[in-house]
Amino acid sequence: MKTPRIVVVGSVNADMVVKSQRIPVPGETVTGGQFVMAAGGKGANQAVAAARLGAQVTLVAKVGQDMFGNQAIENYQKEGINTECIVRDEQNATGVALIMVDERGENLISVASGANHALKPQEVERAAKHIRAADVVMLQLEIPMDVVQYTAELAAEAGVPLVLNPAPAAPLDDDLLRRVTYLTPNESEAGRLSNINVQDEASATAAARKLLQSGVQHVIVTMGAKGSLIVGARQATMIPAFRVEARDTTAAGDAFCGGLACAIARGEDLEAAVREASLVAAFSVTRLGAQPSLPFAAELRRFAETVST
Ligand code: ADP
Repeated sequence: MKTPRIVVVGSVNADMVVKSQRIPVPGETVTGGQFVMAAGGKGANQAVAAARLGAQVTLVAKVGQDMFGNQAIENYQKEGINTECIVRDEQNATGVALIMVDERGENLISVASGANHALKPQEVERAAKHIRAADVVMLQLEIPMDVVQYTAELAAEAGVPLVLNPAPAAPLDDDLLRRVTYLTPNESEAGRLSNINVQDEASATAAARKLLQSGVQHVIVTMGAKGSLIVGARQATMIPAFRVEARDTTAAGDAFCGGLACAIARGEDLEAAVREASLVAAFSVTRLGAQPSLPFAAELRRFAETVST
């Protein structure tokens, strides 16, 4: 089987995670937590998810000239990711995310974007040859919108399928949406993008249909433990989530997108790809942290034998 080629244009962060019994309210201190530092950022997480599943991944991103930037590049090289398109920023620090997780696996995240917000379209242009040769291009919204738009144009011109994970939610213009092959909002992002309050399958379908009218080819609304809803012009198909005990839902969406891109790049049909993505995401919620929770292909196959929907 041919190795799928994926280009991710997105964010790189250093994640500082504290897991404690509960998340403090403003002004409160909760003691007794457990600390983990891990590599993160939605772009990097999705790149690692796809690389661990066997894709050949190029990550286009920007980090600072600091310790976290050095660590990130070293770490992604170890993951087997092509890091030649990761740019070093002279002025801004590497992005940092402060994450708190409670015992039910709920999280609270504050991000200092740093170098991620200084990524430029010209820096993506330098990766054009990788984009043209890719099976799938993947984007999220933790980088400047002009970079997102430019990348989408390059992918569309080259006829390469584009997965856009609209996270964190931001308004998207129709020019961008009509270049998107697969849009993967969670419920709250689907709600923000469509101005429809998304709470269940019916409202998620209505929200997705509105986005399809803007020219997106496929919308997949991820609905946490309920599963993922694939919405096309005529039908909506719910792919149930796998039943697992959630320890930490950080990066569930990133695991899902990495798994989805990898399966699509391998040529699987959309339902099979979403099932595979759900499996990758389910694995990730059983582990603490962002990238440490992402499975390698062999681990995922073993996990698949132990879970059901
Ligand atoms: P995000 O992390 O972006 O908010 P979701 O919470 O919708 O996204 O999760 C993405 C996907 O991860 C879901 O569609 C589902 O397949 C899987 N997932 C999330 N939470 C769970 C869970 N508790 N159990 C099993 N699968 C889950």
